[in-house]
Amino acid sequence: MAGESAAQRVRNAARAAAIAGLSTTRSPKRETGWVRFPYYHHVFDDERSGFERQIRYFKNIGEIVGIDDAIDMIASGAPIDGRYLCITFDDGFKNWIENAVPILASEGAVAAFFVATGYIGTDLQRDRERLLAFYDEGDRLMEFLTWEDCRTMTGAGMTIGSHSEGHVHLKDLSDADAMAELKRSRDVIERETGAPCRHFCCPFGRAGIDYDPARHPGMARDAGYASFLTGHRGANRKGASPFDVRRDHFLANWGNYQLRYFLGD
Ligand SMILES: [Zn+2]
Repeated sequence: MAGESAAQRVRNAARAAAIAGLSTTRSPKRETGWVRFPYYHHVFDDERSGFERQIRYFKNIGEIVGIDDAIDMIASGAPIDGRYLCITFDDGFKNWIENAVPILASEGAVAAFFVATGYIGTDLQRDRERLLAFYDEGDRLMEFLTWEDCRTMTGAGMTIGSHSEGHVHLKDLSDADAMAELKRSRDVIERETGAPCRHFCCPFGRAGIDYDPARHPGMARDAGYASFLTGHRGANRKGASPFDVRRDHFLANWGNYQLRYFLGD
């Protein structure tokens, strides 16, 4: 339900605002519209009620939109007339389909889920050593989704995006290897889900540390992606680049005051 009518309203509002900007002598003032990208890694069992409360909070302060609409809004360069939230998840954990997706569905909301494709379908016992290496610290193993789970999610209106194949630091790779990460991950997502994979979310996400802003966003565009999402906080306002998307990391058990601190305007 959030899909078509919301997207249409967004486009109409953007068009109306553009026309208003041309036909009046508005004094220059601060652009108040934005698209924000809350991002999560997990929703554990004991975080369900917190996550549900957060989704309701987002609906209260703005409108939740899918990533295609969010990126189109940014890429259009038109004024952003309102507050739009595009919920995103990184890595590919099983608790997404167990906890996050049912809550999103019951709230009439959608989200984009970025999977490190090389870890989809791994087994906690069989692939223990690889999974231990996924994080730099700790020995708490998290189960990953299967491709069947991913198909169930796209069937529920969710978007699957690429978070690379091996959850790599792009900056450590040759251009050829980085391009292979971009393309192979997209190809397997499209083959397994039957849905287009248009969006890339950079693992770790820090410019100059994990990726080279002069090379990798352009490579993602060359590979056919419509966006490059980072780990840098902040609002995406009129004039922002879809290849330098800012996001706000949240934990699903945070209180509303913590959301307000990062989203408050
Ligand atoms: Zn990640």
